[in-house]
Amino acid sequence: MRLFLAIKLSKPMKDALINAQNELYDRGVRGNYTPEENLHLTLAFIGEYPAPEPVLEALAEASFAPFALSLEGLGRFGDLWWAGMRASPPLTALARRIRHALAEGNIPFDRKRFSPHITLLRKARGELPGVEPGEAAMTVDHFSLMRSDRGKNGMIYTELGQIPAEDTHI
Ligand code: NAP
Repeated sequence: MRLFLAIKLSKPMKDALINAQNELYDRGVRGNYTPEENLHLTLAFIGEYPAPEPVLEALAEASFAPFALSLEGLGRFGDLWWAGMRASPPLTALARRIRHALAEGNIPFDRKRFSPHITLLRKARGELPGVEPGEAAMTVDHFSLMRSDRGKNGMIYTELGQIPAEDTHI
């Protein structure tokens, strides 16, 4: 199975991202827009791995406290366009702890530098206009082990497990 670790987004966060997608579309930008149910923030990409249990066991070591996350700006990696996150030391620390825990558990993962982004569309055609995703924010009190499958009409992401923050009372 193809696995990755991600933060699932709150409804207000998704609403802000969908508004940004709609604005891009209205400005003539075409491409493969990420459907609402697939909007997420990836923390680490594992890729093909036989079972979820060893990953969840390894992640028991990745403790973290709840933290706030907010959107900031749009950007692109080539024709993949994304919404960015306001600089967040706890987010960077969480990604680092997850990667450390995976390495300790001998779980393979992509070691490319962590670039927090939420993919809004792929194969984008057009120029990136000065669109802002809005002021949405959310509290991260868990992250998720996700499985990615190619469906008939695009990717299907399934949550296989949740890793909660240590203390959910902020
Ligand atoms: P995905 O490739 O399974 O990716 C799931 C999440 O992991 C996305 O957030 C993606 O980030 C991230 N990710 C993927 N590869 C990564 C890597 N090497 N390093 C760091 N992060 C990585 O699903 P997807 O992103 O929805 O699909 C992307 C493309 O992969 C599609 O064109 C699909 O056809 C193709 N693909 C899918 C499968 C499958 O079986 N699921 C197999 C082969 C190829 P981004 O959003 O930045 O991409």
